[in-house]
Amino acid sequence: MKTYSYGKQSIDWRDVREVVRTLRSNFLTCGPKVREFEQALCDYTGAKYAVAVSNATAGLHIAAMAAGLGPGDEVITSPITFLSSANCARFVGATVSFADVEADTANINPGEIEKQITDKTRAIIPVHLAGQSCDMERIHSIAKQHGLIVIEDAAHAIGSAYKGNRVGCCKYSDMTVFSFHPVKTITTGEGGAVMTNDEGLYRKLLALRAHGMHKDGDMAHDWRYEMRELGYNYRLTDIQAALGVSQLRKLERFKQRRREIVSIYNEQLALPHLTEREFSNACFHLYPVLVENRREFYERARKAGLNLQVLYIPVYTQPYYRALGHVAGECPNAEAYYERCISLPLYPSLTNADLREIIRRIKSILP
Ligand SMILES: *Cc1c(COP(=O)(O)O)cnc(C)c1O
Repeated sequence: MKTYSYGKQSIDWRDVREVVRTLRSNFLTCGPKVREFEQALCDYTGAKYAVAVSNATAGLHIAAMAAGLGPGDEVITSPITFLSSANCARFVGATVSFADVEADTANINPGEIEKQITDKTRAIIPVHLAGQSCDMERIHSIAKQHGLIVIEDAAHAIGSAYKGNRVGCCKYSDMTVFSFHPVKTITTGEGGAVMTNDEGLYRKLLALRAHGMHKDGDMAHDWRYEMRELGYNYRLTDIQAALGVSQLRKLERFKQRRREIVSIYNEQLALPHLTEREFSNACFHLYPVLVENRREFYERARKAGLNLQVLYIPVYTQPYYRALGHVAGECPNAEAYYERCISLPLYPSLTNADLREIIRRIKSILP
């Protein structure tokens, strides 16, 4: 029996050719492919600057550092996300508050963000769940009113648009972070990028990606460098960047197929699913549906060859966050969503025959 999982990379011979060319070139890292990938990301999104990094978690970490977040600061994010959206605040010693999600999109609710703001709040990290943009205009205006930094966690959302602008353009934020993990929409194996329009943030991000080293002025022409702050080795290799360049060329086709699959599921399964807002043109990364008796559905799907996934366990219910004082019941919509959500297979290489088979199996396990 053919098995299907909730997500999968799409790699073809063009990707292989591009990677092999880099393997045969002079630079495996710190070479021209990284810059080419960064430029391609800027051209695609419309942002001025891109800093490619080893993964999105590293990107969120240096974004939090570049934003100047630290002990005593509070950061607001969504509970329905991967751990990194909150952990990046903890990396720099800031505390995290979770704002509840909207019931019909599972994206952070701007009204709930406002309720979480205190005089210590310094930043908001909205997460574009499943690829659908949050209401960035509202979030941006809340941030402006309170003098807050906005870092978009767009790990799911490369290819998506909000009010006609591509996610990553940073029109409503200071920085946007992408992930290129294999389950995400395009991949570099492991990888990520931080987008920004602010030259000062860009310079900081570049230094933080490489040990806090600077090589400017006279130093550009000799051996000297200066370490002015504590940075990391969060570089992406040229091998990975070559794959990224090749994958990015296919993003519009991936998006079209992802949207087609979503509309086929919406029509033919008619299970409760996320609502797409009129401001959104999502490159869907996930297709979550809501089911009763999720545990049973999950087990029966597995027996039917469908390896589905539950995304996400509300972050504040993790033992680490409980130990920091977070409690069950903090975000009722997030908890209700978590109780019923399960993500069905969604990736561009699914054929119409695959979809018919997946839909048949799902119908057979529904009560
Ligand atoms: C995958 C993911 C991340 C982390 O991405 P990595 O590249 O694996 O570090 C962060 N946030 C969200 C919402 C994600 O889905």
